[in-house]
Amino acid sequence: MSCGYQLRWYDLFPVFSYLFLRGQCRKCGAHISVQYPIVELLNGILWVCVWVKLGISADSALVSLLVSALIVLSVIDWRTYEIPLGINIIIGILGVIRIIIYPSDIAGNIIGMFAVSVPLLIILLASGGRAMGGGDVKLMAAAGLFLGWKLVLIALIFGCFYGSVIHIVRMRVSGEEHMLAMGPYLSAGILTAILFGSEIIEWYVGFF
Ligand SMILES: [Zn+2]
Repeated sequence: MSCGYQLRWYDLFPVFSYLFLRGQCRKCGAHISVQYPIVELLNGILWVCVWVKLGISADSALVSLLVSALIVLSVIDWRTYEIPLGINIIIGILGVIRIIIYPSDIAGNIIGMFAVSVPLLIILLASGGRAMGGGDVKLMAAAGLFLGWKLVLIALIFGCFYGSVIHIVRMRVSGEEHMLAMGPYLSAGILTAILFGSEIIEWYVGFF
């Protein structure tokens, strides 16, 4: 960003290139944000979690790509309060590919596209755009297509839970009003639903 140096292939090893360069640009020595290796490390850890939990399959590959999209989206939303449309489109395309490979419950996937996004859209319109952003609505439509209606509902419940708890803590700690970027919390909810959704549904159904 500082001198316009074009990164070479050996500058692109996740985490390791940053450590090797000790967080400085190879050419001009400018400081490189620690955000980059942290995001790379988080991505690697979550991919391992996905493959350990869900096994080695084409589906795990799709879920891994979804996780990477969610990480990028979360960082951008956290910093800019905007979810780029392109990332939501990528998630929607991953959802379509998943339906083509695993067409066992197409109706569930299509209902999932609307199950959360439509109620959120109504809240968005009713609040005049103050309660949430259009990016959140599109994210839950794309994620709903990927997850199906049961898991996208779980994603919403956990996303709202994470968002309210962490937001309250942040306001207490800093004592000031924060604008709430929903993307990171919804993403964490989506990840929870993917990794533990079937257990959560079994546990809940066990009450009846
Ligand atoms: Zn430089």
